[in-house]
Amino acid sequence: MRRKIIAANWKMNMTLNESDSYLDTFLLEVAEEKRVDIVLVPPFTTLARVSERLNKIQNVKLGAQNMHWEMGGAFTGEISAPMIRELFARYVIVGHSERRALFGETDEIVNRKARAAHEASLKPIVCIGETLAERDADKVEQVLETQLRGSLAGLDAKTLTDTVLAYEPVWAIGTGRTATPGQAQAAHAFIRKVLAEISDTATAEKVRIQYGGSVKPGNTAELMSQPDIDGALVGGASLVARDFAEIIKITAAL
Ligand code: PEP
Repeated sequence: MRRKIIAANWKMNMTLNESDSYLDTFLLEVAEEKRVDIVLVPPFTTLARVSERLNKIQNVKLGAQNMHWEMGGAFTGEISAPMIRELFARYVIVGHSERRALFGETDEIVNRKARAAHEASLKPIVCIGETLAERDADKVEQVLETQLRGSLAGLDAKTLTDTVLAYEPVWAIGTGRTATPGQAQAAHAFIRKVLAEISDTATAEKVRIQYGGSVKPGNTAELMSQPDIDGALVGGASLVARDFAEIIKITAAL
């Protein structure tokens, strides 16, 4: 039985004051919720503050939105995995479609980051997903398989089990357009099949695969009740503390 994992990707949003008032509401809302894994992924500038606020909170974990694959050195403007780990973060998103599309991240770069994350005891949340043009050209499986094989190259069964995947169809991110539960489930089942080929069936059954793309309280139940959907990576709706808490509560109650 895979434990569901719900993560909030705040993207380039939230000042220190805004994240403080978010947490004032959010932490009260989810204080008793222990049935799902909860992860907050703030921007780097508020990571230390959110980390302090989560210091005595057991059920809400911290993640970062990106990292460099080197452990340190002359990489102006970049942040390393040990720097993130030092702030008690447990997770890091790698290969988000915005990073792939806007910052030229390839599967090879995503793979370097995923490996470096594991080296620093961070669990990578590896994002994959097709564009609308690729879906229309009937290339969903081809694209997902290429991204999976490239991004996860060289990860053994143990590190794969500690890797979270996020299936995020690019056409559903920030657009208000959600994949139907059937479309999402089909993609997740295919991803698990490829994982079994890359590794083995037992490992593939353990890997958690989140869905991301305009998840909100109103569509959470039908998406999260699909057999191969193990949680959500939430962008827009995670910026409103009560909405994100609602997504968590709906999932936990399933
Ligand atoms: C995301 O950025 O990972 C995401 C899924 O965004 P949204 O929920 O806004 O579509």
